[in-house]
Amino acid sequence: MTWFKREDNDLPPIDGRKSVRTEGLWIKCPGCQQAIFKADLEANLNVCPKCGHHFKIGARARIDLLLEPGYQLVDLELRSTDPLDFTDLKRYKHRLTEARKKTGLNDAILNATGHLGPHAVVLSVMEYGFIGGSMGAVVGETIARAVDRSLATRDPLIIVAASGGARMMEGIVSLLQLAKISAALARLDDAKIPYISLMTDPTTGGVTASFAMLGDLNIAEPGALIGFAGPRVIEQTTRQKLPEGFQRSEFLLEHGFLDAIVARKDLKPYLVQALSWMQVTQKAG
Ligand SMILES: [Zn+2]
Repeated sequence: MTWFKREDNDLPPIDGRKSVRTEGLWIKCPGCQQAIFKADLEANLNVCPKCGHHFKIGARARIDLLLEPGYQLVDLELRSTDPLDFTDLKRYKHRLTEARKKTGLNDAILNATGHLGPHAVVLSVMEYGFIGGSMGAVVGETIARAVDRSLATRDPLIIVAASGGARMMEGIVSLLQLAKISAALARLDDAKIPYISLMTDPTTGGVTASFAMLGDLNIAEPGALIGFAGPRVIEQTTRQKLPEGFQRSEFLLEHGFLDAIVARKDLKPYLVQALSWMQVTQKAG
């Protein structure tokens, strides 16, 4: 039973005046609860200028942030075939169509080749806006192709994770991607080509359980949710209260699961430097 009910309090417009729409200009920061002017947020790489909260950014914006102009988007042609002809609340086919329309992408990932500072790299970036960045056959195959590109050119691979985990609408096919990508990365490792994993908010489920944690260097943005199962499931299974900040970047760094936490504004110089020493070591070794 509901004790209090909020009345619908939309005010009718006064004698034909149009109400001024401010919606969309301001955004409330989940970190400090303050209202931020959207233009200020965008000018600051979508990081709250007041508290440093890192907002999610799309795959294309991430590539623009990391690569020099003139990069190439590659492996764009793959599309999911809906192997199970799956329906939950909606048909999976409809979800795919909606997600394509919303993001302008064919699936939850974008591959690019280009330069990061002086280094030629292969970059694979997940798109959280596409069905929660979930990993189905297309994401798996696109990452496998990024690995193949690295193997062919010997350019280092960087994968940026942003994912709710495996795409359950593809059932076992989505789970197979964990093995497929892990096997591809093992070949990269045998060939001694560097792989850097960057985890952003959120990196969970099958993505954490496979490629996100397999980097030669595993780094994350501040405050990112990184884990396998969600905190509620863990609490119910272990019957224990979880510690403060559990499954956030800072907690993982402290417990040895990450090599570094790098703020968005420092990412590019950090990666340039990391690639420099990794490749010096590679040539020497
Ligand atoms: Zn804030």
